[in-house]
Amino acid sequence: MVAPMNFPLNLPLAKSGLDRAAHMRSDKGQLESLWAKAKIAHFNGEKFLSDEKGLIFLSPQELAGGERYFLGIDDAGTPYFLFHSEVHLAPEENYHLLREANLNDLQIGIAVHGQSLALWHKRHPKCSMCGADTQSSLGGAVRKCQSCDIEHYPRTDPAIIVLTRDRHDRILLGRQEVWPEHRFSTFAGFVEPGEAFEAAVVREVKEEANVTVHSIEYVGSQPWPFPASLMIAFSAIIDDPENAKPDGEEIVDIKWLDRDSIVAELKSGTLLLPPPLSVARAMIDAWYMADGLERPRLDSPESWR
Ligand SMILES: [Zn+2]
Repeated sequence: MVAPMNFPLNLPLAKSGLDRAAHMRSDKGQLESLWAKAKIAHFNGEKFLSDEKGLIFLSPQELAGGERYFLGIDDAGTPYFLFHSEVHLAPEENYHLLREANLNDLQIGIAVHGQSLALWHKRHPKCSMCGADTQSSLGGAVRKCQSCDIEHYPRTDPAIIVLTRDRHDRILLGRQEVWPEHRFSTFAGFVEPGEAFEAAVVREVKEEANVTVHSIEYVGSQPWPFPASLMIAFSAIIDDPENAKPDGEEIVDIKWLDRDSIVAELKSGTLLLPPPLSVARAMIDAWYMADGLERPRLDSPESWR
């Protein structure tokens, strides 16, 4: 029997400590006065200005040029902005990738929102309707075409990710060729146009591992701003485990694991788990703890990608 898991998952990047205050975006004068008293995080297109205590917030007097994106206000009414400029305002060692920076929950929310927005702005300088230039508007919440006036909204690409188990509570993981050696993870893929999440789950698992799943349950979601995904997580039961095989293209190997074998493989170095920030890792950890026995946490060397 499969052990019931504790959902929804508490996912590391799914944090939002700010009120996004969308009603404040449309008034330019109000945005200016918010900017004048804001705490401002700096993103250089890749990294955040930060140190071991977290994001280093700047005041508007320290900044010129660049793009400003209004992120929201905290409980005390303090506004927060992201300043997006590729000019370095501090030595290189004071800039850290989102996944490397030491951030509290409020700052994770700021960084995930800010990075998602900044990467979208950077990739959408032109109107997809007429090809003319677009310009940031509403505090960075949209881009407006300077010729045909159309508004373009930030993209978020939904992707499903699924923890698949058989009736004996073994999990099935797959491996992509491009990953670090021995890395295995849960199955995932982008939702296609006109497709529901559940249908995407069934399709992806069938395509990648040749098995059919049922009993699909929603277990949580988190943004994955590398650059624009939203991971929607599910668990599902495999009907026909005997049919499991990799598709040989996206997935080059698969592995069945129970709780003893996952520990043994991690110990012997024949298995590497996805990074702690990922939904995949959170689901694997939640499954591992779900039998209710006292267990040490799964220990896997950090590996990105
Ligand atoms: Zn246009």
